[in-house]
Amino acid sequence: MIGQRLPGGVWRRDRITGGWRYWVTEYRGYSEPGAFRINITAAIRSMTWYPPSGVGMPMSPRLGLQEICRQRELKMVAGLGVSSTPLEYPEDPHIPAYLDQSHDPIWATYSLIAIKQLIHRGWLTSYFLDRGVEIGGVALDFVREARPERLSVMCALNRHEECTGLAWTRRWLLVPQRTPCVCVCGCRSPRRGGGERPGDAAEEVEDLKPNDEVGAITHEEPPNEE
Ligand SMILES: [Zn+2]
Ligand SMILES: [Zn+2]
Repeated sequence: MIGQRLPGGVWRRDRITGGWRYWVTEYRGYSEPGAFRINITAAIRSMTWYPPSGVGMPMSPRLGLQEICRQRELKMVAGLGVSSTPLEYPEDPHIPAYLDQSHDPIWATYSLIAIKQLIHRGWLTSYFLDRGVEIGGVALDFVREARPERLSVMCALNRHEECTGLAWTRRWLLVPQRTPCVCVCGCRSPRRGGGERPGDAAEEVEDLKPNDEVGAITHEEPPNEE
């Protein structure tokens, strides 16, 4: 983004902790009047999160979110969210009349649903209003988060059980290289490893661990027999 120019499809942005919230034009009608934007912001704050598989999530938001993931080919999904309490909004055809002429609209109950994705330097969370017959984009959160260079994608996604104990890194190197994942969840343990030679990777990391003693070891340590 250059200066004050907003990306296409965005009509407003607000500062949030660690990043920005972009309000998208698709369902601008719902985010433009301050009243509904406050409702949506509240729904974002009180969102209930589920794993990317949608296990434990009510069927209606789960099917909608999985369809969005499939259609848009969303990758690196960390979680699926749904607002804990459905919100009341004017029915879509009534919203201009409601906003312009203060007509009392027909009210409908819509859920706010969300998809959280891992991106290069942080997280992207996309929020949608689920109107039952249609799902439309409302807002996007970009939040920066520094993460260790050698953290595997699966561990970064909090899907520790799926980590093979190895991470891909391409720092300084044109060809990505596999290095032991730095996560402390135990993914490098040979019992857990599903990747190539996880035992070797674990040993490598052990070798790199700093000794408890300060400075380099300059003497031969006696073998510990006990
Ligand atoms: Zn982990
Ligand atoms: Zn890991």
